[in-house]
Amino acid sequence: SQPWNDPDAVPFIRFEKVTKKFGEFYAVDDVSLDIYRHELFALLGGSGCGKTTLLRMLAGFEEPSAGKIFIDGVDMAGVPPYERPTNMMFQSYALFPHMSVETNVAFGLHQDGYSKSEIKDRVADMLALVQMSKFAKRKPHQLSGGQRQRVALARSLVKQPKVLLLDEPLGALDKKLREQTQFELVNIQEKLGTTFVMVTHDQEEAMTMASRIAVMNDGVIKQIGTPFELYEYPNSRFTANFLGQVNLVEGTLIDDDEKYAIIRSDDIGGDIYIDHAVQGHEGTTLWVALRPERLRLCTEKPDDSGHNCFAGKVEEIGYLGGLSTYHVRLESGMRIKVSEPNTHRHNEPRYTWEDKVWVTWETGSASVLNQ
Ligand code: ATP
Repeated sequence: SQPWNDPDAVPFIRFEKVTKKFGEFYAVDDVSLDIYRHELFALLGGSGCGKTTLLRMLAGFEEPSAGKIFIDGVDMAGVPPYERPTNMMFQSYALFPHMSVETNVAFGLHQDGYSKSEIKDRVADMLALVQMSKFAKRKPHQLSGGQRQRVALARSLVKQPKVLLLDEPLGALDKKLREQTQFELVNIQEKLGTTFVMVTHDQEEAMTMASRIAVMNDGVIKQIGTPFELYEYPNSRFTANFLGQVNLVEGTLIDDDEKYAIIRSDDIGGDIYIDHAVQGHEGTTLWVALRPERLRLCTEKPDDSGHNCFAGKVEEIGYLGGLSTYHVRLESGMRIKVSEPNTHRHNEPRYTWEDKVWVTWETGSASVLNQ
């Protein structure tokens, strides 16, 4: 079982009701959060949501206006950055341009008074770990962006911090290299077992890499969970929207019996059947979250259906190679997005502009949100 599901597990990092004000502005507002040893934890959110401020308070570059931060049981109030068991890797790699790769990596160790042979061994180990051994003698300007990023990682890990803080670590890399480097970072993190806390605005990056994610907005945490939990069980429209694609359909709960909850929706022009109980009483406003890949399109009205089947017309088609996406205008006027995998070779999009289609989904495919 995972530590976050274990009530007896001791958190390694604890934010306790942490607030950070800049003047009258709340950058972080009453955040409580536990992170466990060996996690790769992601703080995810849009620009200005407070994720970097949270990370900087953990590093000791900012002090909370209220609340407490503990690392390994120790209250960090007043502890300067260099006395914390943390190290920060910045988005701009901040390598010394005139020093070779190995001198860059060794830099912090010299200051700490390690012996020459110890430094040599540690640097060699680190460069091997990030697969940069053969570039040891090069200068930063002789490296690609991805290679510089790996050197920066080696430099921030060589002192064996208990916690590595990463602020948009892959921000400067192009998409292909980012994807590859995401896996490398995870591998390195798993090998070392260091706790990583990462800030990112990129939901795919957070989902690929993180053990758990805190989704932030306006200085507060909206939800904490594993990538799977957040995608499958979002607690709000905000999270549902932030992670992946979703159609949100507003409606009113009109019935909730043993078999189905029924949500009547003017948006979609009919009743939506849900095969699990939902929160709320009759008359409550709710939102049904429909993921595009959980919806199906058919030309004929499926005869097994009756439930969750709405007529419309294809308005837009997107061919993405592995997927085709369709925007369907329903008779109610609502536009709904459906995606289908192109699993066979020569799969062209099955439908074209103006095609009359039925949009349908199983009663267990939707989640229902009350905020
Ligand atoms: P981004 O991805 O754009 O960096 P972020 O989520 O990391 O966004 P923060 O850097 O944590 O956001 O900033 C949160 C809010 O606090 C922003 O509105 C920012 O303008 C404000 N802020 C941050 N640092 C300061 C400061 N030193 N003085 C005043 N306001 C600040």
